[in-house]
Amino acid sequence: VPPARKLGVALVGLGNYSTRQLAPALQETELCRLAGIVTGTPAKAEAWKEKYNIPEKSIYSYENFEQIKYNPDIDIVYVVLPNSMHVEYTIRAALAGKHVICEKPMALNVAECKEMIATCREAGVKLSVGYRLYFEPHHQEVRRLGTEKIYGAVKMMETSLGFSMADPTVWRLNPKLGGGGAIMDLGVYAIQGARRVIGELPVAVTAQGYIRDKTIFKDIYETMLFQMEFPGGAISNSTTTYTSYVDRLYATTGYRWFGLQPAFNATGATGDSSEGKIEFKTPAYQQIRQMDAFAKSIMDNTEPLASGEEGMKDLRIIEAIKQAADTGKRVEI
Ligand code: NDP
Repeated sequence: VPPARKLGVALVGLGNYSTRQLAPALQETELCRLAGIVTGTPAKAEAWKEKYNIPEKSIYSYENFEQIKYNPDIDIVYVVLPNSMHVEYTIRAALAGKHVICEKPMALNVAECKEMIATCREAGVKLSVGYRLYFEPHHQEVRRLGTEKIYGAVKMMETSLGFSMADPTVWRLNPKLGGGGAIMDLGVYAIQGARRVIGELPVAVTAQGYIRDKTIFKDIYETMLFQMEFPGGAISNSTTTYTSYVDRLYATTGYRWFGLQPAFNATGATGDSSEGKIEFKTPAYQQIRQMDAFAKSIMDNTEPLASGEEGMKDLRIIEAIKQAADTGKRVEI
């Protein structure tokens, strides 16, 4: 696709993920390109303008963001803000007539997801969630092994993601901005690692919340363990945590098994199984495939694979997990 025909993407919020992953990935995409930025930090605007050759007219602040409506160079707005801001900026982008990708978790709860989906539909724009792993070959392979029962029907899964969080000042630990700790930040990965491999949605969950370091974690769970029951009888066990590094997916059918470790981090997955290695050559940035797939769904006018409905499925499960941890009861979905 010639540069002029590529869809223009504006990144909203120039933090770690935009800086380290999305902007570099957008230099290698075939169907879209980095065309604009929205930031509250003037120094970042200057640096990005220089580095990525972004024209002055495609640089916005949170205050004048609505003006993006009049910019024909921007087709897609990519919301990469703290979790609590996803709903507002997705809706503002849709009302400005732009297609939207929103980072994970899609929102703080199901009600917000519904509002985002409805607003995008009414505005006639497409909505996607930043689920890079939907387009990642190792994840596509374990999904194939599970849903096509290549080694038999999966009976049990373990899916976990965690890292050590030492900085008490980050927005992720603020319940208003982050939405409630490790499960909000990392839950979508552990949930998808199981539900996508089995190809079913859970019918019930149980969960246990823990706080080890009470000096940092006051009002959110530092660690959330949860179990999901699937309609075909399979069960999964997961940990999301801010105490320590863990990053793996494991599925077993009885004697045969397959898995990924690391599994979910953007730095890349490595796979193994009872039948041999699961190996694919992949580009440096997983977001290249993710972004090109969304651009293609816009060009072809088809439903994006990582749709708003997919995002809402995970929020519905997260809500049930939180309720299960708070009440100590099994929660049916
Ligand atoms: P950062 O804290 O690094 O960046 C967030 C940016 O949002 C800030 O740099 C700032 O940009 C802007 N911002 C606006 N208002 C606020 C506020 N009140 N507090 C803090 N920042 C604010 O976060 P990340 O980049 O790590 O995460 C952003 C989103 O991306 C989250 O939803 C996260 O879950 C998701 N994410 C997804 C990943 C994936 O693999 N799919 C990986 C990492 C994150 P500015 O200065 O330009 O205004």
